[in-house]
Formats: sequence, structure tokens, C-alpha cells
Amino acid sequence: MKLTILGSGTCIPNTKRGSSGYLLETSDSKILLDCGSGTTWKLEQIGINYLEIDHIFFSHIHPDHTGDLAPFLFATKYSHFREREKPLYLWGGKGFTTFFNALKEAYGNWITPDGLNVEELKGGSGDFGDFKITATKVPHIESSQAYKIESEGKTLVYSGDTDYSDSLINLSVNTDLLIIECALANDSYKMRGHLTPNEVIKTINASNPQKVVITHLYSECDEEKVVQTIRNNVDAEVIEARDLLVVNI
Ligand SMILES: [Zn+2]
Ligand SMILES: [Zn+2]
Repeated sequence: MKLTILGSGTCIPNTKRGSSGYLLETSDSKILLDCGSGTTWKLEQIGINYLEIDHIFFSHIHPDHTGDLAPFLFATKYSHFREREKPLYLWGGKGFTTFFNALKEAYGNWITPDGLNVEELKGGSGDFGDFKITATKVPHIESSQAYKIESEGKTLVYSGDTDYSDSLINLSVNTDLLIIECALANDSYKMRGHLTPNEVIKTINASNPQKVVITHLYSECDEEKVVQTIRNNVDAEVIEARDLLVVNI
């Protein structure tokens, strides 16, 4: 599998970090994990035709993870001499179809390209031939879920936004790559629904992943050097997420 980080930031504008979006390429599929603002443009920047995306899995419906969905679908429907030749699947947690129907209420048929399927993968799993995916509920908002993707004998876990939880630890045990949020710069910033560096360290040490990507970084996290703090306290290889960084799994 090949991961390209499209957005390593949050909802706050940041010249170096876009809102959440990750491209995962398996042998036969192109998958987006979240589609925050700017994701579609970043695909073009790395030479990936957005019409080749097969699946988008949403961790939850916060705008920094879904902001580019309507532009993505609008561009798919009115693709200007380029044609989409395969179905497109959108997946989310509980309430995702209600969210999509509300978006459709606002935009109508502008965002309903041919071959569009909208589904909820509530704590379930799916087998798509060249990859398998498992969703697990994590504590952030009602619809939030983390994903584990298995392909070619390797596994990747994406936390989405989350607080500290056993469900994320259990999903991540011995995974090859864990993409984990660290939204809070240190313990004094602690708020419900996000992780501090110490909670990320505890999660890594309890689940023993091979490699870790630290993401969803506010500018305070960069100033406080959270990635270095985490790196100093775990055995796994720790990678700082950066927009357009490629990680092979
Ligand atoms: Zn977020
Ligand atoms: Zn969120």
C-alpha cells in the first residue's frame, strides 16, 4: 500500500497544513480517508485524476474532514470532457446518510454523479477483494470511527479524531502503520475528544505499531514539538505528517 498525506492539519487555516485528507493506493483501488477542504486540488497536484477514486471513507462529519465532499462530487458530475467510468462509494459512521441527504437538500442534483453509492459502515467491516476494512467507534462525536485497512499482508489504522480509547488500541495492535491524531499540544490543552502527546504515547506503547504517523496538528503542536516528544518515548518509528508526504507500507 502507498499512503500520500494530502492534509495534515485541522480546521484552522495554516499555510503548511491542509485539512484532513489521505490517499491510500492498493493494488487495484484508490481510496480517500476523509476529504477535508483542498483534498481534491491536492490530488491534481500529485498527478492523480480524482475520477479514479473508488471509495471515500469518512472518519466523521466535522467540516475539516468533509469540506471537499460537495466540490469533489460537483467536479465528478460536471467533469468537463473527462468521464468517470466506475462506481464511487462514500462510507461513514452512524448518521452519515442523513448528513449526505442534508447536503443533497442544499445542492440538489449538482452533487449526484452517476454511479454514486452512499453507505454507513457502522462498526462493521467490508471485503473489497484487494483490501479489507474494519470500522470501530471512537470517542469524538457520535459518528466518529477509526478504520483498519488490510491489504497485501499489511495493515494500516487511521484514528480520525479521537480521545484516548481502548477501542483504538485494540484496533491498532501490531499494525504496520498507525495514523494517529495529536491535536493537543500538551496536557494543559486537554479537552474531550482529542489526544495529547502523553495519550498518544500511551496508545502507541499499548498497541505496538511498527510505524506511526502523527497528524491533525495545530500550529501549537508544531511550536511545542509534539512529534519529537512522542518519538523520544516510544519504540515505533515516528513520522511527522506533512502535506504531500508519501509513506509506503
Ligand atoms: Zn478534525
Ligand atoms: Zn472532529
